[in-house]
Amino acid sequence: MTDFIRLHLSQIRQQQQATRPTYQSQQRGIISKSRLPNTYEFYSRFDITIKGSKGWQLVKCAFHNDTHASMGVNREHGGYKCHACGASGDRIGFYMQWHSTTFIEACKALNLIEGAQ
Ligand SMILES: [Zn+2]
Repeated sequence: MTDFIRLHLSQIRQQQQATRPTYQSQQRGIISKSRLPNTYEFYSRFDITIKGSKGWQLVKCAFHNDTHASMGVNREHGGYKCHACGASGDRIGFYMQWHSTTFIEACKALNLIEGAQ
């Protein structure tokens, strides 16, 4: 009896696999954040030099007329947060805000999409 059920279940599974849509062909690519340049390298592209090697480092904010160093940039994960104007996000967010682009446009420009056609 259990063998019968097991056989029946394996037949159902085979049928499901045969009728399952192939998601692979519909995918346009996978966003891979590991392709992002490291924090120092990334921000230096925008003329922002991060001095310290660990944790949050204060730099002049790129999004308002900053006279002090109001923006914190995290060396480990690359996030930013301005304590004066409130600008914040991750490296992709920084690119989006700097260039006024959408998330997908930023990912394309930063070459983060794997398997894109
Ligand atoms: Zn700011």
